[in-house]
Amino acid sequence: MIQKMVESMAQLQEEKLQLQEELLALQEKLSARENEEVAVSVQLQDQVENLKGKLLDQAQEVNRLRSELGGTDLEKHRDLLVAENERLKQEMKACEAELQKLKKQHGKCIDCEHIQENARLQGRVTQLQLEVEEAKGRLSELDMEVQQKTHRLAEVELRLKDSLAEKAEEEERLSRRLRDSQETIASLKAQPQQIKYIIKTVEVESSKTKQALQETQSRNQYLQEQVGMQRQVLKEMEQQLQKSQKTAAQLQAQIKMYESELEQAHGQMLEEMQNMEDDKNRAIEEAFARAQVEMKAVHENLAGVRTNLLTLQPALRTLTNDYNSLKRQVRDFPLLLQEALRNAKAEIGHAIEEVNSTNQELLRKYRKELQLRKKCHNELVRLKGNIRVFGRVRPITKEDGEGPEAANSVTFDPEDDAILHLMHKGKLVSFELDKVFSPEATQQDVFQEVQALITSCIDGYNVCIFAYGQTGAGKTYTMEGTPENPGINQRALQLLFSEAQRKAADWDYTITVSVAEIYNEALRDLLGKEPQEKLDIKLCPDGSGQLYVPGLTEFQVHSVEDVNKVFEFGHLNRVTEYTSLNEHSSRSHALLIVTVRGLDYSTGLRTTGKLNLVDLAGSERVGKSGAEGSRLREAQHINKSLSALGDVIYALRARQGHVPFRNSKLTYLLQDSLSRDSKTLMMVQVSPAEKNTSETLCSLKFAERVRSVELGPGSRRSDLVSWSSQEHLENDSPTAAQPAIRTYSAPTSGTPTRRASSFRRKLQTSGKLRPVPV
Ligand code: ADP
Ligand code: MG
Repeated sequence: MIQKMVESMAQLQEEKLQLQEELLALQEKLSARENEEVAVSVQLQDQVENLKGKLLDQAQEVNRLRSELGGTDLEKHRDLLVAENERLKQEMKACEAELQKLKKQHGKCIDCEHIQENARLQGRVTQLQLEVEEAKGRLSELDMEVQQKTHRLAEVELRLKDSLAEKAEEEERLSRRLRDSQETIASLKAQPQQIKYIIKTVEVESSKTKQALQETQSRNQYLQEQVGMQRQVLKEMEQQLQKSQKTAAQLQAQIKMYESELEQAHGQMLEEMQNMEDDKNRAIEEAFARAQVEMKAVHENLAGVRTNLLTLQPALRTLTNDYNSLKRQVRDFPLLLQEALRNAKAEIGHAIEEVNSTNQELLRKYRKELQLRKKCHNELVRLKGNIRVFGRVRPITKEDGEGPEAANSVTFDPEDDAILHLMHKGKLVSFELDKVFSPEATQQDVFQEVQALITSCIDGYNVCIFAYGQTGAGKTYTMEGTPENPGINQRALQLLFSEAQRKAADWDYTITVSVAEIYNEALRDLLGKEPQEKLDIKLCPDGSGQLYVPGLTEFQVHSVEDVNKVFEFGHLNRVTEYTSLNEHSSRSHALLIVTVRGLDYSTGLRTTGKLNLVDLAGSERVGKSGAEGSRLREAQHINKSLSALGDVIYALRARQGHVPFRNSKLTYLLQDSLSRDSKTLMMVQVSPAEKNTSETLCSLKFAERVRSVELGPGSRRSDLVSWSSQEHLENDSPTAAQPAIRTYSAPTSGTPTRRASSFRRKLQTSGKLRPVPV
């Protein structure tokens, strides 16, 4: 047992020893491991230091490269190139503008100014070319630089790649070693429990080492990131470089373009210059030729001048003498001038006095002359007869119908425009008036004959123009006319306007018009506000014996347009109450009263002339049996007024002491314009139609009777009776005192009747006279 025990003790001892040996070996191993680990960590640290140093170097290299190749420098270069480019562009533009200007000027002149300009431009072009060359040189330098830098960058890149590869290898190696140590540790860990303690301590120490390794790894990571960032930066720089290269290429292309343009411009300029040179040469040749011609002329002139000079010398001598004497005269001139001025003043004063007195004398004579003229005119009018009777035959119209009733019954004397023949009940009755207008006579023809009367109105005479005749015979046509073919009224006013205008330098004329109507012996103002109101005719309160119509509207007119407006207004007022204007107008007298007031600027003389244009009521008879009521009253009034007019004219022409103006409103109103040196025209209108022959006969008898009263200057017929009592005379036997009405039997031979004085004509019983219609 003991032996067993000793044996087991010895065995245990042996085991213990074995274990101790093993422990020792393990301790050795551990220390060796420790040493190894320390060495590894030191090595790793060295490597890390080394890497750090390399990284620093690389960073510095990168910085250096950046500063060398840096975006800023490249950008600067690029900016400079861009600016240079811009400047070149502008210069190019300026060159073009100048070239343009030169082209324009070329047409204008070929002076040497241009040549100077050209030279200057050429200089400029060469300068520009030099500049372009310079820019090109600079560009190629820049290119070189860029290439060098690119090269260096590639090298740096390579170096960077190598160091990166080295680092990767190093990393690989380190991680491999780390893996080995970890494995060793793991194997150590697997040792029996006895060495666990030792392992633990080793583990504690190993964790420290691990920590150190981790730190190293994290630093390594950081370094890798840094390298990544540097790579990024490098990439960016590469991109920038590429961009710069692209810009440089573009710039080069532009420069090439500019060069070609410049070359073109240069070519053009050379061409222009050549043209200019040609022009200049041509101009010089021409100028030379001209100068030669002129020179020749100048030489000739010179020769002439030389000869002139020879002849002028004596003249110069006499001129010098004259000059000296003039000098003397000039010295004495102020005295002489004063004397002359005194004399002239006296003479002028004298002359002014004389002119003044002559002027007075002339004015006096002028006034006398005016009076004399008026007197003469009056005398002339008296001799000619101030009452004239015209006849107008209207053409046959549609209204006359057809057949025998509308046949023509009036013929004329081709040799005498004062005679007309009427075929009445188979007998040819002839009448002599002052003038007869055939149906062919125009409004202008008629006006031609009456315009002398109208102009006398401007001189201050009163004038009356009456249109007499049966309804439909053309009274209104003659007086008013149609818008296209106006009658006496409008033409007269037109004439007055133009006459007033013609005399405007000496006279101031005012023309006014009134439009009135006499119906049933009542006077109405057709321009008034109340056209129905009856107006009175009164004596002027100034005792002049003149008449006036209180309330009669007067419109001042300046033109035909004004007149037309007035007429229109008058017509409107006339129509208001009556459905048929024609019917009404045939039963009333329409009056247009034109007053012309003149003032002579030089003499202060005032004149007033009145022109009365009267469209009388129809003169036709109204059958006594048929007429009744208002129609009868109208007829009576018309009869009365037309009789009164006839009486008055008769009395005036017969120069009776008493003229019965008061017998009708019409004659009373026109008293001023009918008496004394007034002028009257009776236009007797007739229809040529067969059916109207008896009315035509009456009208013509009335006309001839009015006219036949004319007895010639100085004669007086006191025995003439009133027209109203004419009918009595007609019905009884005709006497010598009666107005002469001629009746001819129809001329068988067809030859025109001879004209005989109306004094000798006797009233023939065949023509029943009824001068005034009832
Ligand atoms: P009254 O005024 O005498 O009643 P009008 O002047 O109204 O007559 O004339 C009657 C018609 O005859 C109108 O249609 C007019 O145009 C026409 N007439 C009158 N005289 C002429 C003429 N000389 N030429 C053409 N037509 C005329
Ligand atoms: Mg009429």
